Amino acid sequence: MSNCPQETQIGRRIGIVGIPPLTIIKELEANGDTIFDLDEPLVKRDIELASSFLPRVFCAILRTAVINALSLKPDYIYIDVGPGKCDCALHTATILEDILPETTVIKTRNQDRKDFGTPLCTARMPLLDKLSAITRSVQSAKPYTNLPACAPTAGFWGVPPRDFSLLSLFPETTHVYGWTRCMENKTPDHRRLEETVNPDIPTVFFAQSFCAKTALARHLASKHPHGLYVDCDVTAGNSTKAKIQAFLELSTLQKTGRKSKKADFCLLSSDLPTF
Ligand code: SF4
Repeated sequence: MSNCPQETQIGRRIGIVGIPPLTIIKELEANGDTIFDLDEPLVKRDIELASSFLPRVFCAILRTAVINALSLKPDYIYIDVGPGKCDCALHTATILEDILPETTVIKTRNQDRKDFGTPLCTARMPLLDKLSAITRSVQSAKPYTNLPACAPTAGFWGVPPRDFSLLSLFPETTHVYGWTRCMENKTPDHRRLEETVNPDIPTVFFAQSFCAKTALARHLASKHPHGLYVDCDVTAGNSTKAKIQAFLELSTLQKTGRKSKKADFCLLSSDLPTF
């Protein structure tokens, strides 16, 4: 299966928004279908084109999904509209059904509970490569290869951003939390895992502007001893990048000489996470 629109197509052309349940991924894999992750920027078209269908003040991930869907016209779109995604996706599904009559739009509610583990989230790797690998991982039902966990020096909490360039600011020893961790674990609706953080490492709490997760990101950041809340829309501007860079540099200086704990904690729930 591929995510590159330029590659030769095999099987049916499937667009996904959010994470389809594992049973569906297994079916698509068995059928040799070509999957496009519509949440990622796949085509070079102005995001303003989405404004005819979605308000400008709306999540940039879903505006991107609409642009991708209009350009690629997949045979099917599986769009998660349950608690593992959001109401914005539910309404986007209605719009996609309306504007793409040739495409079959299938609404799913992924409430898978089987933990696949999160080896990528804790591995030593450039954060941009790490999030690319995590977003690719949802297209396969295969178990993960074990990777050694590195000692964390920073944390990234949140969804994969629309603009991956902000990820290049983080060190290779960044551990990943929030919905991206749920994504690798193949349990997008896992509130306790989403709330899990490590209070001992400086953590950037990221959310897309106009997403309900901004509330959780800001709340967790306010409770975290070394937290920074950041939200951005289509692209991360220079001031956002400078803020993240300064936060990480300052935190590194402050941490010099202090020992890092390995354990992860849940700041909101009273009980510890299951792993
Ligand atoms: S970033 Fe928020 S609003 Fe956008 S698709 Fe994800 S959950 Fe929905």
